[in-house]
Amino acid sequence: MATKKFFLNESELPTHWYNIAADLKNPPSPPLHPATHEPVGPEALAPLFPMELIKQEVSQERFIAIPDEVREILKIWRPSPLIRATALEKALDTPAHIYYKYEGVSPSGSHKPNTAVAQAYYNREEGVKRIATETGAGQWGSSLAFACNMFGIEAKVYMVRISYDQKPYRRSMMEIWNGAVVPSPSEETESGRKIRATDPDSTGSLGIAISEAVEDAAMREDTKYSLGSVLNHVLLHQTVIGQEAIKQMEMAGEYPDVVVGCAGGGSNAAGLMFPFLKERLDGRQKTRFLAVEPASCPSLTKGEYRYDFGDSVGLTPLMKMYTLGHNFVPAGIHAGGLRYHAMAPLLCQLYDEGFIEAAAYPQNPCFEAAVLFAQTEGIIAAPEASHAIRGAIDEALAAKEAGEPRVILFNLSGHGLLDLQAYDDYRAGRLVDDHYPAERVAEAMRELPVIG
Ligand SMILES: *Cc1c(COP(=O)(O)O)cnc(C)c1O
Repeated sequence: MATKKFFLNESELPTHWYNIAADLKNPPSPPLHPATHEPVGPEALAPLFPMELIKQEVSQERFIAIPDEVREILKIWRPSPLIRATALEKALDTPAHIYYKYEGVSPSGSHKPNTAVAQAYYNREEGVKRIATETGAGQWGSSLAFACNMFGIEAKVYMVRISYDQKPYRRSMMEIWNGAVVPSPSEETESGRKIRATDPDSTGSLGIAISEAVEDAAMREDTKYSLGSVLNHVLLHQTVIGQEAIKQMEMAGEYPDVVVGCAGGGSNAAGLMFPFLKERLDGRQKTRFLAVEPASCPSLTKGEYRYDFGDSVGLTPLMKMYTLGHNFVPAGIHAGGLRYHAMAPLLCQLYDEGFIEAAAYPQNPCFEAAVLFAQTEGIIAAPEASHAIRGAIDEALAAKEAGEPRVILFNLSGHGLLDLQAYDDYRAGRLVDDHYPAERVAEAMRELPVIG
């Protein structure tokens, strides 16, 4: 019987983050000022982020040391396990070998604390007393509340009102970790009050919540803002995942032919992929990389590669991304973490250059894959992660079809124990497969800024 699990010692937790910007063949397109469309310098971001994170955002250094205090907290759950999905392989009757890196072992149950801890640390180092952020279903808010609590910082979370009402348990987690949670739109910011004045029953949206959190941070001297995906420094912090996985695949005596991740803003996929991608950029490996997104929000497979805002109100710098338009509001699928109109600029560039492939799936085939995974491997995956499972299973079925061996590695970005309503809906046949909303995307694309 083949070995199933591959564990590293605490001492093998990576000492550095890997910055793929140092190895790109073409220089990345700079962020542009939202009004002037001129490239923005680091100082423009200073009201929102601590300087050390801004430096990481634009760094060309290949390896950046992880502070000891950050490593100590990551050791609560890291290194995370790498597991071979032998029972799933058997159920699929495939010659492929399937491995997954399991990020659901963190305190909040996903990969997000990998960056939340680093971000809270740099804020504390620079004397920040309070961090404001937004959260949809609560995965990011709970991760940031956990991290802030570790460093004695107050976390203020603007939580999309409909989730605040419908998903109370993530809110409980935030409050246990001393986070202050308000439903958004709230009465606490100008942006929130304005929306409530015209629409008192507004259920909120991620775009509105971002505007509230950014305004909060911009207005207060003691407060900074924090983002859980998309930005370069967030992807950087997630590279502990791939670096660990490289060592664990060595222990397994194999090397992946294809690496798969689900992609919302792109951080967990990049975290697993980038350390392996370095080997391909350096010409040592031919590994394929597959990002899987929802059919209802297919930024990579259907979006255009051009400058757009990171938020829906248009407060952030313009970034060059595959985008569906910042005003596009995707259908309310259960994989809330994948409902972002665009994608991390670094991932987009590598996709554009042909190093990363992408696929889009509707909800039902993803839940079907996640249920098979739960019934074979035992773990109930987050709805977001079900997309990676679907991608990995289809790779394994393609290998079977071709009658060839294939080593598949995917990121199981989180568990779904707070998402059981989604599984109930799937099993009761209540999930609709929202297909690509071409007209609404076309409408949103018409509102993109035109860069001269
Ligand atoms: C937030 C989240 C995602 C999507 O974010 P990325 O930045 O694309 O990784 C995926 N999986 C889980 C479990 C999440 O919580």
